[in-house]
Amino acid sequence: MSKVDVDVKTARAVGGQLLDWYEQVKRDLPWRRTRDPYKIWVSEVMLQQTRVETVIPYWNRFVELFPTIEALADAPEPNVLKAWEGLGYYSRVRNLQKGAKVVRDKFGGRVPDTPDEISTLPGVGPYTAGAILSIAYDVDVPAVDGNVFRVLSRIFLIEEDIMKPKTRRTFEGLAEFLIPPGRAASFNQGLMELGATVCIPKNPRCHSCPVKEHCRALEEGVQEELPVKEKKKPPRPVDMTAALLRDGDRVLIRRRPDKGLLAGMWEFPGGERVEGLSLEDSLALHLREAFGVTVEPGRLFVQVQHTFSHLQWDMRVFECAITEGLVRESDDVRWVPVGELETYTFPVAHGKVVKELGGLV
Ligand code: SF4
Repeated sequence: MSKVDVDVKTARAVGGQLLDWYEQVKRDLPWRRTRDPYKIWVSEVMLQQTRVETVIPYWNRFVELFPTIEALADAPEPNVLKAWEGLGYYSRVRNLQKGAKVVRDKFGGRVPDTPDEISTLPGVGPYTAGAILSIAYDVDVPAVDGNVFRVLSRIFLIEEDIMKPKTRRTFEGLAEFLIPPGRAASFNQGLMELGATVCIPKNPRCHSCPVKEHCRALEEGVQEELPVKEKKKPPRPVDMTAALLRDGDRVLIRRRPDKGLLAGMWEFPGGERVEGLSLEDSLALHLREAFGVTVEPGRLFVQVQHTFSHLQWDMRVFECAITEGLVRESDDVRWVPVGELETYTFPVAHGKVVKELGGLV
């Protein structure tokens, strides 16, 4: 039982109405046509921070390229990253592949069906665990994501800050209490669907809500004030520079380090603006440090912006000429013909530079 005061009669009514509604309105999404826990896992990972419409073609292609846990576990990492290119937040797919290897090696290739075991997989937090267990295996466990926080905080007028870990436990307890026995798959998806299509952040469509007669936020007219969420810091703006160095038809790219932001992806060399220096001088300094060469930044080739959860890049890419020294190739440094750039995996911001060059990403 949750700490929120809900009687059994109300819980059964809300659960039943939500189930009936979900069965009538559910969207026909490709991952809803399968009970394969691996494919549901892929969809849940993709849907973290990415919209449904964007995910659909990616999911279709991903499960075609890697149709089983084994296929994903055995695939070379660059191929997996390539299939993810454009979705961003690459740590998600790295963890997914690590998780696939654990399932292959420790669980005989079968995604575990208990909360304790599934929670040991890399990248599988309480929400993803709950979603896979309930949707693929019909285990009566909750799956609380941002939509569910919003819906439940409104129906039951919960004013606790959802950014606090203990609030998650309150919501999980409540969501579990509401699950009609044996129906977690439809109930959890119903809650999420309600949050995604009716109980939306701004102007919720309360007139067509299946549980409006129980909604305390509607009764008090405070729907849009819930859920209570401490303000997140806005992303920090960062001035970035990068160099477009050409040798005939070839351009210079390098691989980012294996750890940290955008680990292991390819980019046009450069870095953050150095305090007190112009963008051009910062760029020359970065290239001297990276390759021991002197470059002269010339005209601005393109300016691109990209926002991460904590950073906002404003990146200016300059045509550059090497005036002293040579950049030699290695595993992590390549001179690549523009037409072959598409075989490398670039972060979104650098992918825009590739597009500007006329290479496809
Ligand atoms: S009545 Fe409105 S605020 Fe309440 S759950 Fe339904 S859509 Fe959300």
